[in-house]
Amino acid sequence: MSSSKTISIIGGGCAGYSLLNKLKNVSNIEIDFFIGKNQGINNFWGYWEYDKDIPDNILSGKWNKWKISTQDGEKFFESSSHPYCVTTRHNWISYCKQNTNKKNIRILKEDIMEINNKIYNKNNDEIISDFIFDSRYTNKSKNIFLQHFKGFLIKTETDCFDDEVLTLMDFRCDQSKGMQFVYVLPFTKKIALIEPTIYSYNIEDEIYYKKTLESYLYDIYKIKKYNIIKTEKGSIPLEHNNIKKGPYFNIGINGNVNRKSSGYTFTFIQKQSILIKNFFLNISNDLSLKVQSNFFNFLDEIFLDVIKRKPSIGPLIFYSFGKSFNGNEMSDFMNNRINFIPFMKMLFNLPFKEFIKSFIRCLFNYG
Ligand SMILES: Cc1cc2nc3c(=O)[nH]c(=O)nc-3n(C[C@H](O)[C@H](O)[C@H](O)COP(=O)(O)OP(=O)(O)OC[C@H]3O[C@@H](n4cnc5c(N)ncnc54)[C@H](O)[C@@H]3O)c2cc1C
Repeated sequence: MSSSKTISIIGGGCAGYSLLNKLKNVSNIEIDFFIGKNQGINNFWGYWEYDKDIPDNILSGKWNKWKISTQDGEKFFESSSHPYCVTTRHNWISYCKQNTNKKNIRILKEDIMEINNKIYNKNNDEIISDFIFDSRYTNKSKNIFLQHFKGFLIKTETDCFDDEVLTLMDFRCDQSKGMQFVYVLPFTKKIALIEPTIYSYNIEDEIYYKKTLESYLYDIYKIKKYNIIKTEKGSIPLEHNNIKKGPYFNIGINGNVNRKSSGYTFTFIQKQSILIKNFFLNISNDLSLKVQSNFFNFLDEIFLDVIKRKPSIGPLIFYSFGKSFNGNEMSDFMNNRINFIPFMKMLFNLPFKEFIKSFIRCLFNYG
């Protein structure tokens, strides 16, 4: 790319900052980054480590062992090459902002406005750039299947968490509102994030997540006394939306990077940012931002169809899923990589009748 290109990045969330991070050292580009007025509260982002390109000093935790628990038993996983890492929004943003005090990068704390498919800055000037990367979430549909959750960072009086093993999903909780599990990040023996997480169309009120927290802590750890240090709350669409065509390029969740079955997004945002960087470095000629393959989208559709029809078998599905993989195979699967043998084991272990039914339903609907 010989002449200088102008780029506008819209939205100061994970995708916007991740893209800034990848582009900040690319030459011959001018970046206007509209981060928005609302910076959002701090929260944790977890991912399996593959490329080691995120430094350990911005991590809040790193685990080589994790487990999935159900009423029928627990399945343990271990991986030394692909540990599960957790960073925070604030740490990630500070890291991405490092060394951006340059003439060619402007960070603007303002909301952009959109009128008739044109976007305007706070002075009502139209934003015109060679490339516009937009992470504002634009899906207005009311009926979206969600993964919604409330996380409680708590401190207990006595030692009770095994800080070497993270609980990816514990299904030993109420299943009446949809498939629910509790995600536990044990930072120390006394401090953990406990996050009740539900798959359904409706976000529950605050009391519901709190009740799950209380009964979970009592049923599993026999704890009644604890302090809540802070909370986080969110919902992730388990669907993709229609992508706008250029000069707008949708990025982040708005660019369908979220894995539809799991809601994992952080890793895929990094992959999408690399695709964009490679384009500006002339490593690729094509500015294709598609991160989720048709194969994984189809598998995820089948899984979601089962969960929507029969949420009560969620725990059985994940337990069977867990039996199919070792630690590396599971992290591979969660990161859209799969080998033939674990894939066949997974097909063999999953509840056959329900998956065949959903396979046929999806085959005729998909596309
Ligand atoms: C609490 C929480 C925990 C999560 N945990 C994980 C996890 O552990 N692992 C994982 O992989 N994924 C996780 N996710 C999912 C995903 O990684 C996040 O949702 C991620 O923030 C998505 O990034 P994004 O940039 O697409 O969207 P956002 O982070 O929502 O960014 C969009 C940005 O656009 C800005 N904006 C909106 N309107 C305007 C406007 N008019 N002008 C300018 N800016 C505007 C918003 O203020 C926002 O900052 C989590 C999500 C939440 C909410």
